[in-house]
Amino acid sequence: MKVDSLIFGGGAAGLWLLDELLRRGDSAVLLEAGQFGQGQTIASQGIIHGGLKYTLQGLLTPSATGIRDMPGVWRDSLAGQRQPDLQATRLRSDCCHLWRTDSVRSRLGMIGAKFGLRVAPNELPTEQRPKVLRRCPGTVARLDEQVISPAEFLDNLSSRNKDFILQIDANDGLSFDCDAPGQVQAVTINNPSGDNCLKFQPSQLIFTAGGGNAQLRRHAGLHTEVMQKRPLHMVMLRGTLPELNGHCVDGARTRVTVTSDVDSAGRTIWQVGGQIAEDGILMEPQELIERAAAELRAVLPGVDLSDVEFGTYRIDRAEGSTRNGGRPEQVQILTDGNTITAWPTKLALVPQLVDAVTSLLVPSENNRPALPVEWPRPSVAAPPWETCSYWHRFDAQTDETHRAA
Ligand SMILES: Cc1cc2nc3c(=O)[nH]c(=O)nc-3n(C[C@H](O)[C@H](O)[C@H](O)COP(=O)(O)OP(=O)(O)OC[C@H]3O[C@@H](n4cnc5c(N)ncnc54)[C@H](O)[C@@H]3O)c2cc1C
Repeated sequence: MKVDSLIFGGGAAGLWLLDELLRRGDSAVLLEAGQFGQGQTIASQGIIHGGLKYTLQGLLTPSATGIRDMPGVWRDSLAGQRQPDLQATRLRSDCCHLWRTDSVRSRLGMIGAKFGLRVAPNELPTEQRPKVLRRCPGTVARLDEQVISPAEFLDNLSSRNKDFILQIDANDGLSFDCDAPGQVQAVTINNPSGDNCLKFQPSQLIFTAGGGNAQLRRHAGLHTEVMQKRPLHMVMLRGTLPELNGHCVDGARTRVTVTSDVDSAGRTIWQVGGQIAEDGILMEPQELIERAAAELRAVLPGVDLSDVEFGTYRIDRAEGSTRNGGRPEQVQILTDGNTITAWPTKLALVPQLVDAVTSLLVPSENNRPALPVEWPRPSVAAPPWETCSYWHRFDAQTDETHRAA
C-alpha cells in the first residue's frame, strides 16, 4: 500500500497528527503497538498549561513563550470552535487554582501581567476561594488553565479515525526496508492475531511513540542517544475527597500539583505530581506515601485524609535529549531521510508539534488506503488508578501506612 504518512504511536501527538492529516486530505495510517496513550498521555494530569509555571523564577523562559498560546487553541477545540473538534472530551475542570502556603503577600498576579501571559493568575478574595482552599493562609488565585480527561481525549480522537488505525506487535511483527539510515522504503507489519501481513510504502514516517521512539529509530537504522527519559513517581489518593485542580507554589517550585477525577467505583481520585513526584523517584511507595500525606497536610490545612487510600505509579517522561538532561524548553522534532521523530514534551504543546510536523509533510496523489477490516484495532489504555493494585491507608496517629483491604 502506498501512503503519504505512516505514523507510529497513538498517544496525544500521533492521534492529533493523524486527525490533522486526514482532514487536509492526505493518505495517512497510524500504527499502535499497545493501547492508545499507554505511556505518558493516559498517566498525565491533563492540565493545559499556559506557561505560568515557567515564569515563577521571575524570568520569561523559552518554555513560557512557546506554551502561552496553547490554552486558547485547546479552549477553542474543546468548544468545537476549531479543528480538531474535541467537544466529546470531558473537561475535568475549566480552571486551575494556584495557592501558596505562607502568608507573605504573593506577587503571582504581577508575574502573569509582567510577562504578558495569555493566562494570568487572578487573585481571589476569601469568599470566592474553593472550600478546600479556604484555610490556606497565603494567596489563592484562579488560573484559566483547563484540565481534560486524557482517557476521553484519546477516545475522542481515536474513535473518529479508527478506519485508519491498526494494531501492531512492535517486537515481533514489524520490519523496515531501508535504503540508508532514516530513509525507509517499506514497512511490513504482521497481523498480531492472524497469519497475514501488510506492506506499506510510505512517503514519510513519523515516530510519535514517546518512549517507543528509540526502538523505532533502531528499526530505521538511526541512533537513539537523541532521546532521554525523566522519571516521576506519582501519588494517587482515592476516597471521599473534595474536587481540586491546581498547584501549590513555593517560590519558583511547584510543591504539589493536584488534579481530580472519579474512578469506576465512583470514588474521587486525586493525582498528585509536582516536586513530590520528582523527589519520590528514589523512594519506595510506602515512604513516598508517608511523605505525600505529610506534604498534603502541610499545603492543605484542614483537609481530612483519614478515610482515603493512597497508591503510587512510576512513569517516565520521554523527550528529545537536552545537554544537561533537564526539561526541553520546546517541542522536539528530528528529521532524518524520510523519517521524522517527534516529542511534544507537554500535552499542552501537541497542537504546536502537529503544526510544525504537518508543515514538513508533502501530500501526494496517494489514495486513502482501505485497511483490512478484520485486522485488530487498539483500545484506549486504562488510567493509572484503575490498574494500581497496591493501595495503602495512612494512619496519622502512628504515622504508619498499612495495606488497604
Ligand atoms: C505523570 C505525568 C503527568 C503529566 N502531566 C501533564 C500535564 O498536566 N499537562 C501537560 O501538558 N503535559 C503533561 N505531561 C506530559 C504529557 O503527558 C506528554 O508530553 C504527552 O502525553 C506525550 O504524548 P505522546 O503522544 O508523545 O506520547 P505517549 O502518550 O507516551 O504515547 C506514545 C504512544 O506510542 C505507542 N507506542 C510505543 N511504542 C510504539 C511502537 N514501537 N510502535 C507503535 N506505537 C508505539 C504507545 O503505546 C502510546 O500509545 C505529563 C506527563 C507525565 C508522565
